Amino acid sequence: MVRMATELVLLGPAGAPAPVAGRAGISSALAVDGRVFVVDCGRGTPSGYLGAGLDFARLEAVFITHLHVDHVGDLAGLLLYPWGLRAGPDGSPPPVQVYGPRRPGLHTDVTEVGGVAQRAGVRELILTHYLPAEPDAVSAADWAGRAGQGFAGRTIAGRDGLRRTLPDVADQC
Ligand SMILES: [Zn+2]
Repeated sequence: MVRMATELVLLGPAGAPAPVAGRAGISSALAVDGRVFVVDCGRGTPSGYLGAGLDFARLEAVFITHLHVDHVGDLAGLLLYPWGLRAGPDGSPPPVQVYGPRRPGLHTDVTEVGGVAQRAGVRELILTHYLPAEPDAVSAADWAGRAGQGFAGRTIAGRDGLRRTLPDVADQC
């Protein structure tokens, strides 16, 4: 049985098109046994990736949940800025696969998140998308309370740089 160490790093939780001082846009990274997968590419994703200590040469794929600008705004930057840092053995950067929806899609209503997580068997719900443009418009506790409706586990309002080592996949079987 192969065991994989998986770490989640929240690169940024700030949604909505307007920039929010001190917060990076929507993006999370999953590091799985040295391979890195990024989910969404909001404002500042390349800087957040580097700041989290992740290696651009290990970036394998990007998953886009939907096509709102707060999820795709820095996709080109993530692929192009680190050109010199991603050089493979022959000098050219290894390919990065990008996956996303064919249609723009929409956010899930915050009050539906907890029910979805409960049905999926989630143990800890980490919120990765802070919607209000004003940081103080909704407190983290209110945000977690609204999103945690219908969820029996622990709900955490995500913040820039939050890290979690995820349970060993083999332990879930
Ligand atoms: Zn969004």
